[in-house]
Amino acid sequence: MNKQKILIVEDEAHIAEVLIAYCQNNGYLVEHLSSGKEVISFVEENSVDLILLDLMLPDIDGLEICKKIRKFSQLPIIMITAKGEEIDKLLGLEFGADDYICKPFSPREVMARVKTVLRRVTNNNTELDAANSIKHSEFEMTINEFEVTFKGQFLDLTPREFLILRLFLENSGRVFSRDEILVYAYSDTLDISDRNIDTHIKNIRKKINQIAEEAEPIRSVYGIGYKFNKL
Ligand code: CA
Repeated sequence: MNKQKILIVEDEAHIAEVLIAYCQNNGYLVEHLSSGKEVISFVEENSVDLILLDLMLPDIDGLEICKKIRKFSQLPIIMITAKGEEIDKLLGLEFGADDYICKPFSPREVMARVKTVLRRVTNNNTELDAANSIKHSEFEMTINEFEVTFKGQFLDLTPREFLILRLFLENSGRVFSRDEILVYAYSDTLDISDRNIDTHIKNIRKKINQIAEEAEPIRSVYGIGYKFNKL
């Protein structure tokens, strides 16, 4: 099994250090950001299994970040708060955090929460598996887990790449223009150009070719866009 990756967003260096050490000791891969403004793009461009998100950050409020992530992802989020902050609110529908931890915390407690949340997410998805998996041309995609394998090997896609591949797998043989892909993969933002789609396609192809060098499931259709071909 692939190691799960935890993103720690915490501006206080000594707290971040403790969290990083504990996560690593418990067998997780760790990424650390000390400001809020990089979080959204990081989550869009990298695969992350869970976020430990500090509520009080110097630039963007942790709640705002949580809300933005929920617009495009069900990625598990555990908020780290000081006592008395808006706990009810952050677990509510608008922000949708999965759990919270109050400062000061024991690192042991944090790890217990992390494991519980990850287990809950995995179990939920197993129940839903039947309705949420797509099998096509040696690709196997599990929607809720944001996981996809090709020839039995894990493809490490970012959330946008995942959405684009999903569109192709569900509509094999159909040609999609860049605009159509853009509307589908970026329904939450308009601030993006169709050249980004080319970059995403390039990255998806590269990742597929790391598994099978000759495979060419996504074809360019000159003057129009892209289509997915059966292998
Ligand atoms: Ca802080």
